Amino acid sequence: MSFPLDCLFCQIVAGETDTEVIAQNASAIAFRDINPQAPVHVLVVPREHYADVAALAQADPAALADLIALAQEVALELGDGDYRLIFNSGPTAGQSVYHCHGHIIAGKTLGWTPA
Ligand code: 5GP
Ligand code: ZN
Repeated sequence: MSFPLDCLFCQIVAGETDTEVIAQNASAIAFRDINPQAPVHVLVVPREHYADVAALAQADPAALADLIALAQEVALELGDGDYRLIFNSGPTAGQSVYHCHGHIIAGKTLGWTPA
């Protein structure tokens, strides 16, 4: 399967980095964020390249469902099962990597100051 050569998360999916994959299913993989913002901060990304979550939802809703199922699995494995799942979409919203990814944030009582 071809993928954007300059996409960091495609390279991680392809096993071309030393990133440890901590969970996976047919459609998605999970790995720890390099700059964690909470005791549990894990990224879930589809194996296929889509720029953001809306593009994934439109092209492959089953893969998005798999990605969310994987997020819940990780939250149950690494914490008590409660979690926040964040998809930054667009630069103004803080997206810096243009390969769809959800941030699983958990492991503490979370505040609510996203804006
Ligand atoms: P965004 O800002 O696009 O919502 O999220 C991108 C996330 O990717 C950031 O939280 C950033 O810390 C993480 N990240 C960037 N480069 C790497 C990397 O090489 N490895 C890992 N594991 N995470 C990365
Ligand atoms: Zn990619």
